[in-house]
This record gives sequence, C-alpha cells and structure tokens, in this order.
Amino acid sequence: MEPNEELTNEIYECPSCGANLKFLPDKEALFCEYCNTTISLKGEASNEELDFLANCDNPVNDWDVESKIVHCENCGSNNVVSKKEITSNCPFCGSSSVINSNELVGEKPNRVIPFKLGKEQVITNYQKWLKKKFFVPSKIKKNIPNPLINGVYIPSWTYDSNTVSTYNGRLGKRYTTTVGSGKNRRTVTRIRYFRVSGVHKKYLDDLLVCSGEKLEQSALDKLAPYNTNDSYLYDERYLAGFSAEHYNLSLKNGWEVAKRKGKEIIKYEILSKYHYDVIDYLNINTIYDKIQYKYVILPVWICIYKYDNKEYKFMVNGETGKVVGKTPISALKVTLVVLLAIILLILLICWMNY
Ligand SMILES: [Zn+2]
Ligand SMILES: [Zn+2]
Repeated sequence: MEPNEELTNEIYECPSCGANLKFLPDKEALFCEYCNTTISLKGEASNEELDFLANCDNPVNDWDVESKIVHCENCGSNNVVSKKEITSNCPFCGSSSVINSNELVGEKPNRVIPFKLGKEQVITNYQKWLKKKFFVPSKIKKNIPNPLINGVYIPSWTYDSNTVSTYNGRLGKRYTTTVGSGKNRRTVTRIRYFRVSGVHKKYLDDLLVCSGEKLEQSALDKLAPYNTNDSYLYDERYLAGFSAEHYNLSLKNGWEVAKRKGKEIIKYEILSKYHYDVIDYLNINTIYDKIQYKYVILPVWICIYKYDNKEYKFMVNGETGKVVGKTPISALKVTLVVLLAIILLILLICWMNY
C-alpha cells in the first residue's frame, strides 16, 4: 500500500479502524494490530547539520507540542512518548508504573535512525552471539528463557568540527648497543630521544555522545557504530509504539565529551607519523572551528531475562543487530577447564622432572 498523504495529521490513527498504529521495524511500515492495515514509511535523507554556537545557549523547546515525558517509578527513567500514546511500559525495566511528568520535553531531535530489526531478529542475533561464547551453559544456548524485549530510542548528539592543532613533544626510540669490554662486555637497551613539533589539521566528523542517563557512554560506544550520517530527518511516526529516552546532557556539556573523544583521535594521528617506543611528553593545542551538530535518536533493543534467579540484560543495536551484554556462566564448564589446566600443569611438572 502506498503511504497515505492524509496521515501526516493523524499519524497514529489507523485509517480503517481508528486504532493506534505501531511502527513495524522489519517492514518499514506503520501497522494496525487490530485490522492488519499496513502503511509503508519511507524516511527522508538529509545532510543538514545545525550550528553549535547559535544553539548551545538557547535550546529551543519545540518537542512539547506533540510529545510528553513519562517517568518510571521503578527505575527512574524519563521517556518521551507521543501525546497520543495512551499506555506505555518502561522500556528499560518493563515496569508499568509509569506516570506523566510535568517536565518540559525540550528540544526536538532533528534526526532519527529508525529500528531496522524486529524482535525475532533480535533473538536470532542473540542466539548466534551466545553460541560463540564457550562458558555459556548449553541449556541457555538451545533455549533462551523468554526475554522481555523493549525498543527505545537513545538520545545522542553528534558533533563535527574543523580543527587545527599545533604540537610539540619529545618521543623516544629504543636501541641496543654493546658496552664494556672483556668479561664485562654486554648488550644493553637504551632510548634515544628526539623532539617533534608541527601542525596537524583534522576534520572531526560525527563524534557520537550519549545524552541520556540510562545508558553509559561506554555502553553506547560498544553498541556503535550507528550510521548517523545516513540518518533520516526526524519523523514522529517512527516513535509510534516506541519511546525515546529524554536527554539530560545539554548540547553544551555534550561538546566537552566530544572534545575528549576528538583529542584522542588527533593525538593518535599525530603519533602515527612517527616511529617511537616511548612518549616523554606531547603537548597539543587545538583550535576548533565551524562546530556543527545533530540531535539524533538511536534505536536500541533492551532485553532482560531471568536465569537461575538472576537477571541478565543484553542490548541490541536496532540498526545493525550488534549484541552487547553479559551472559550466564556455566559453573560446570569453568570447573572442567580449571581441572584440565591443573592436570596439564601436573603433567608438565612431571615431564620436566623426568
Ligand atoms: Zn486498524
Ligand atoms: Zn523503568
């Protein structure tokens, strides 16, 4: 079925029966659970980047018109849902104790990476991932205890900037030489130091900073990459049946995190010009110009299940299917490996003393 033009006003409403539509990732469509009406949804690509300096002190509060914040009383998460969404569970813990919050929703994302993977694919990817892990109990590998699966869009800032860095420092290269004479003649390792300095230009592109609070930056870095440069212009319809975590890291503070990431990249590139073994010191002074940003919401499947009375959580990148998380460990397998190692060690000692 072709996308229905009239739908832009009543985005959540099924044109046939009036029920709330839901975004169906693997079909790239809005779907009605009651009458099976399916309306395809094609995102609009864009190269637009926003100006950082113009917006960092004056965030626009333009998301309130169409959405609201709901607060989870169980885990404390704050999530943005459409005003038309009637019921919602917390995507992070599954709790239904969510209440409307009076907090302002704030700035509207300008980009979205829609979910591309459905729930079945999430389970398949998790199974594959588990099968590669040796210490996971075989019972789990064959049959995952039904996980609770919820999709949530995680808020992020991406930053671009032209940079020019001047640097100076002292690096060292190891070398071996022979010293002494006669009986004392021996080979020693020494370090030869040399000074470095120069100018390094770098265009930093889409440094990804997590701006929510339920996911650590390190967790997002593990789930990455996300193709933020190929994201679509934000479209409310991708939120149908989902929620987006509310951001709590401001655009301005997010830039500080991005700069730290940028500095690591610049340092790495400068050092890769030289052959060295040790760094005595390296001073880098960077000037940033033409800083631009995007406010992108990223698809993450949060999955929780219980095994042996313990809760396990894994996450799946909703765009690429990459899995991140902890797994149950088989005590039996660990014991067997340790026993095997001890036996090998004993055999080795016997063999050496033979
Ligand atoms: Zn319907
Ligand atoms: Zn919760």
